[in-house]
Amino acid sequence: MKYAFVNGQRSEAQPNRTGECPCCGGSVIAKCGEIRVNHWAHRRGQNCDYWWERETEWHRNWKDSFPTHWQEFVHRDENGERHIADVKTDHDWVIEFQHSYLKPEERESRDAFYSKLIWVVDGTRRKRDVEHFHAALNKGIAIHRSVPVRRILPGRSALLREWANSPSQVFLDFGGQSVVWWLLAKRQEGPFYVTPFSRPEFIQIHLGASEEAISEFEKLVADLRSLASNYEAQFQLQVQRVRSKTTANGFQQYLARKSARRRL
Ligand SMILES: [Zn+2]
Repeated sequence: MKYAFVNGQRSEAQPNRTGECPCCGGSVIAKCGEIRVNHWAHRRGQNCDYWWERETEWHRNWKDSFPTHWQEFVHRDENGERHIADVKTDHDWVIEFQHSYLKPEERESRDAFYSKLIWVVDGTRRKRDVEHFHAALNKGIAIHRSVPVRRILPGRSALLREWANSPSQVFLDFGGQSVVWWLLAKRQEGPFYVTPFSRPEFIQIHLGASEEAISEFEKLVADLRSLASNYEAQFQLQVQRVRSKTTANGFQQYLARKSARRRL
């Protein structure tokens, strides 16, 4: 954890300090070494939030793009279950930065715990993920003249398959400062709709202090979702037309062969 309470103040880890865990109230000690980022750890080494993953520079860079009071938000559900969300925005979007592999059942329980969840996934952890993702992208088709959304099939991309069933908003981060890839619509073996999204824009859209109940981001989610689902409906209609034409042709050919035989 980046924060713990020290004398009632939310504080970052500093050498030789102890504090109180904001999630369970247990005692934590500051870990300030050279290998890992400065953090707080529970005395017995066991984290009270079993969803918590070891933080890397990547986590910290993302978290620090948001106000400190949004970071490490302790979330409690009606059953008293508590988890620390990496970021929670003023519009109640929880943003989780995921570096390591998540088992499907673990991912599902988090998808269910938070009603408005955004995953930002580290796409640089495995060597071939970026290559397989771009191969899928190149084989895909652009669905709109001015909106850069592509319809792609997962192909050999393990990363896409791993995130195919998440009902949450998923963004893949392949490093660099310019874009993250937003998985707009996804199905295990079926098509994905993806769009590049500017990384600064991703941060800005959540920081934007709008008084409205629905955030800019929510509007965008709805717009892009309907763009993808309309396109998919059209696409399936085309496929059916082609199929029924082929079937009709086949039947015509059969009848023609039959009548030709009869004439012999
Ligand atoms: Zn704790």
